[in-house]
Amino acid sequence: MIVLNPATEEPLAELESAGVEETDAAVARARRAFPAWRAVAPTDRARLLRRLATLVEEHHEELARIESRNVGKPISGARGEVAMVAQVFHFYAGAVDKHYGETIPVAGGVDMTFREPLGVVGLIVPWNFPLNISSWKLGPALACGNTVVLKPAELTPLSALRLAELALEAGIPEGVVNVVVGKGSVVGQRLIEHPDVAKIGFTGSTEVGQQVMRGAAGTIKRVTLELGGKSANVVFADADLERAAATAPYAVFDNAGQDCCARSRILVERSAYDRFAELLVDATRGMKVGDPEDDDTEMGPLISAAHRETVASFVEGEPLFRGEAPSGRGFWYPATLVEAAPGDRIARDEVFGPVAALIPFEDEADALRIANESLYGLSGSIWTRDGAKALRMARAIDTGVLSINSNSSVRPSTPFGGFKQSGFGRELGMHAMDGYSEVKNVFYSTE
Ligand code: NAP
Ligand code: MG
Repeated sequence: MIVLNPATEEPLAELESAGVEETDAAVARARRAFPAWRAVAPTDRARLLRRLATLVEEHHEELARIESRNVGKPISGARGEVAMVAQVFHFYAGAVDKHYGETIPVAGGVDMTFREPLGVVGLIVPWNFPLNISSWKLGPALACGNTVVLKPAELTPLSALRLAELALEAGIPEGVVNVVVGKGSVVGQRLIEHPDVAKIGFTGSTEVGQQVMRGAAGTIKRVTLELGGKSANVVFADADLERAAATAPYAVFDNAGQDCCARSRILVERSAYDRFAELLVDATRGMKVGDPEDDDTEMGPLISAAHRETVASFVEGEPLFRGEAPSGRGFWYPATLVEAAPGDRIARDEVFGPVAALIPFEDEADALRIANESLYGLSGSIWTRDGAKALRMARAIDTGVLSINSNSSVRPSTPFGGFKQSGFGRELGMHAMDGYSEVKNVFYSTE
């Protein structure tokens, strides 16, 4: 299989696609490595993860270039992502010996809980943030003492392969981190059904997430699902409109909209709608679209020609604004703003491209109703100077991650994940440690 640069359509690498046999061999290796890895002293496991974090820092520019070329993402964004990858491994190095059990008062003895690793875990990641999302799963999985088989998306396997080399260089024993490059329907499916895989950590579409759940039923596998989103960016008339409008484009068009956290429904209070729309168009017009390798570029191409077709199919009629995009080679699509009503397809379905729907609302109750009118519930933002209103909204919106007067979604130390069809389970922070361990209760009789 040929790995492309989506900005130029030039081949970057040619790799052999693994099948069921290679997947089984990787699971067998991970299984053999498990007993020794789980027995590594916590401080030593922490030291190895810390060393991996340091190696990521030392290879910062190399990893950012690989990611930028393979995904077509602007190099500045890729650098930020690699910095986060290092922070994630530092965080989980620190988490190894802070994930405690409990003692529970009972009659006749001492009751205690232990956190046991699950065994071999299968990690399936998408193409939009290949390295970042790999680290969110690898960090807690390894910290808890599991061994892993990681399946990157077929379109973007390069950074995961380099990371696996760095893991070996860090001293993480052979067999603990395995990467298998191949099709989701072959390698992914096999991991889901494999009797020796205890858990699937999956990030991807809601559609494939449903297949993961179904497939996992056969072996009662644990699953964590990070799926799609259609998040609301709710702007009240009493907000700092200039700041909200200046940042809103980046909350949709970063990574060319190929972001599960994209705040792609921009809900604006009617009395401020015209003013906000004007500011938003100006801010979107100012985004720098072009060569991802250029330090100043803010938006690159989409991942593939097929994906561009899907994105284009969402835009009907004349948009409020359509930006510029390079012509010629590369899977370019312009930043696009569309005025919409809550029930429209563009306001309901995840586009996963640089298309935002602008929707007016009447008051707080109306904003809440529209925000929650979605199958998804991943992220979102609330912009207002009224703190009580912000907190009322934050408590009432059915979504896993919210920001007030900000569009940020992820930090190494805070839980990330979805409500409703955006999935379940949490990544990042100490919450992710729960998803990669089993609670064991032991009773010791004192009689
Ligand atoms: P996808 O099509 O669901 O693919 C995700 C991963 O699953 C890829 O590695 C893919 O492999 C694999 N896969 C495909 N079919 C499979 C099957 N039958 N069995 C097992 N694995 C299979 O998603 P995508 O198109 O790569 O990514 C876009 C989606 O991911 C969006 O919906 C986005 O919202 C979501 N996402 C969610 C989060 C989050 O944290 N909630 C973060 C990022 C993205 P191949 O591609 O190699 O076939
Ligand atoms: Mg796909």
